[in-house]
Amino acid sequence: MNTTTSDESINSPPAGTAGYGHVMGAGVDTTHGPILYLDDITVSFDGFRALNKLTLTIEAGELRCIIGPNGAGKTTMMDVITGKTRPDSGTAFFGQTIDLTRLAEAQIASTGIGRKFQKPTVFENHTVFENLELAMKTNKRVWASLKAKLNGSQRAKIEETLALIHLETEHHRLAGLLSHGQKQWLEIGMLLMQEPKLLLLDEPVAGMTDDETARTAQLFKTLAGEHSVVVVEHDMDFVSELAGAEGKVTVLHEGSVLAEGIMSEVQSNERVIEVYLGR
Ligand code: ADP
Ligand code: MG
Repeated sequence: MNTTTSDESINSPPAGTAGYGHVMGAGVDTTHGPILYLDDITVSFDGFRALNKLTLTIEAGELRCIIGPNGAGKTTMMDVITGKTRPDSGTAFFGQTIDLTRLAEAQIASTGIGRKFQKPTVFENHTVFENLELAMKTNKRVWASLKAKLNGSQRAKIEETLALIHLETEHHRLAGLLSHGQKQWLEIGMLLMQEPKLLLLDEPVAGMTDDETARTAQLFKTLAGEHSVVVVEHDMDFVSELAGAEGKVTVLHEGSVLAEGIMSEVQSNERVIEVYLGR
């Protein structure tokens, strides 16, 4: 039986474990392998297997698209990676040394995994700039951090991020007044302020206009390389654009990998057509 955890319910990993030391010290180590390694992960909810022996590997700097029908287990997979849900069995490592099944949600976030949920959650009553500033200083209390002066490199970092998310001209606007797509970008910008190594994005273009969707694909392609990016998405045009001719696409179905390969392979896979694309 699986348990969904909160930050309060898991306080810390066993004191003095090697994994804990690595998290707080060197950070994620990808020198000899992938950035994310899931092996044989099973998650059951009252006997129903949301994930069923899921195995998935993401390389450092990779941009991976994950597709699959509703209920395939895509969000549950992200819940396991971020520590929101504990697997019943299986292995989940971030880099070589960080055992994700032993850390609490907040600790996992601090190791360099940033997650974006489907619904944008920005501070509507603050400006775009302030939202990025707050995201940069999440360790301090909100009001204290707003008053503290930014240094030059912090300001440069915010400006660089504003350019990346196409919100330079909106930096003084209240976030609440942005379009839905712009709020999504702002939230991605807020994640980037924390300098994550791995970004998990759950249906990031849902509700965006075609133009916003195209700009978002460009943004994610820019982020790949320096970051590893995992995008869960239904919009097949968007996935084709993101994956291009050579990017790997993973198809989830009933909690396991149904197919994996470049887009043209996946799209012509008979099982994929049968359970997903052909419907
Ligand atoms: P996807 O994101 O691919 O649409 P999910 O990971 O959200 O799929 O869900 C996979 C399956 O697990 C679904 O059948 C869903 O109803 C079930 N599920 C997800 N979370 C829970 C939960 N907390 N309790 C019970 N069932 C859940
Ligand atoms: Mg989902």
